[in-house]
Amino acid sequence: MRSYPKHYINGRWAPSNGPQSIAVVNPTTETIVAQVSCGTAGDIDLAVAAAKQALPHWAERPAADRADYLRTLHQGLVDRADVIALTITEEVGMPIKLAKRIQAGLPAAVMASYAELLESFSFETRIGNSLVLREPVGVVGCITPWNYPLHQAIAKVAAALAAGCTVVLKPSELAPSCIFILAEIVASAGFPDGVFNLVSGNGKVTGEALARHQDVAMLSFTGSTRVGRHIAELAAGGVKRTALELGGKSASVVLDDADLARAVKGTVASCFLNSGQTCTALTRLLVPAGLYPQAARLAVEIAGGYAPGDPGLEQTRLGPLISADQKDRVCSFIEKGLAEGAELLCGGPEPPAGLDVGFFVSPTIFGRVNPEMSIAREEIFGPVLSIISYDTEDDALQIANSTPYGLSGAVWSADQERALIFAKRMRSGQVDINGAPFNILAPFGGVGQSGYGRELGAFGLDEFLEYKSIQLPQK
Ligand code: NAD
Repeated sequence: MRSYPKHYINGRWAPSNGPQSIAVVNPTTETIVAQVSCGTAGDIDLAVAAAKQALPHWAERPAADRADYLRTLHQGLVDRADVIALTITEEVGMPIKLAKRIQAGLPAAVMASYAELLESFSFETRIGNSLVLREPVGVVGCITPWNYPLHQAIAKVAAALAAGCTVVLKPSELAPSCIFILAEIVASAGFPDGVFNLVSGNGKVTGEALARHQDVAMLSFTGSTRVGRHIAELAAGGVKRTALELGGKSASVVLDDADLARAVKGTVASCFLNSGQTCTALTRLLVPAGLYPQAARLAVEIAGGYAPGDPGLEQTRLGPLISADQKDRVCSFIEKGLAEGAELLCGGPEPPAGLDVGFFVSPTIFGRVNPEMSIAREEIFGPVLSIISYDTEDDALQIANSTPYGLSGAVWSADQERALIFAKRMRSGQVDINGAPFNILAPFGGVGQSGYGRELGAFGLDEFLEYKSIQLPQK
């Protein structure tokens, strides 16, 4: 069993002030696989004080120096990629083949992208008689979820460190071990004390202490809309800057000229990725009414290839959900879909056959879903797809834009121009045309109840910078 009994504060592994530890459960076996420290508000105080003390020197370092540190972190992430992937598969339940690429590979690539960006990013510009500086916002509190636990942490930490900020990171209590591995990598990279600090603990205690702390200048949060709203309220007390990456209910809109088979395959794959526990998952498939029977048949056929199983095996495509609570929540949404009159095309609330242990849910597809039903409006965070038919393109747009969320979306058409026109009318932070790949340099974030602020690339760096104008006397 892994054991991480200490926090990483001020360049040292420090025992927690708290008496308890947090038990981390493997969602496939339901056994405890790690024990990690459970912090207190006092631990947060120590970490913030260390970050505050480290801030001036880190902020004043030349950007090229900070880039060198990030490069060292990138190498550390690459060197430990296998153990990171295994650890996350064990704690999150994502199939190992995908975990290697996404859970371990993606964060390393993001870290490298920030090292590279620092080579060309301009922290000073002249506008008329003003010198406009980009300065680090200060001590940053990062609060992160469990579904892509390392990626979500690196998206914040790499950008904040690149900007010259110092960081206190509070990871999710459900899948924290990879963050301790990150702290080990930081520790061996020779970072100045206090630049990066890790305090693990429960959201209610350590998360709230971080959100309230008077010496934290900015909070960068990824998680549920419910907690994000609460954190923004706490942060408002200190007029702190906040960035919120929250939930989603993204629409995949198939236009009538699209390659239907490709569109359905791409949508099902997105919906079932990480057992549906992906904020950008395409969970609503919108198809022209005339194509509905064909789309429903294709979707069920494709779902047949997603038999739930042991995520440690290379051939598995669908693992368990993160916890018993999450499994219950998803099953109750499935029950609600049935009660509201949606047509169950495959799956359902019963556990998949032969999987009595583990938090498994059958890949589930509902057809003839009405856009007003809860399964069409609320984030389920499980392998549940809703197929909705539409009459005209304007109807499709209205349905796509009708939830309170606005994180992601997709459009499928044989005519790229037509897809682009539609994509521009979608109310969401990102839209993929015909299954186009994720781009780690493009701004990532949402609108509406999916939050505000952007991560990744130069836009993500921007989040952690303030402007300062210095007016120079005219000659
Ligand atoms: P969550 O909101 O329950 O927890 C997220 C983090 O907040 C955890 O570290 C938790 O300990 C902490 N927290 C909980 N209560 C807190 C409180 N009262 N004060 C301060 N911190 C608190 O979310 P989760 O279940 O870990 O993650 C799933 C959610 O995250 C989903 O809604 C998903 O859509 C969202 N998400 C969004 C994105 C995005 O980029 N938009 C990415 C991944 C996940």
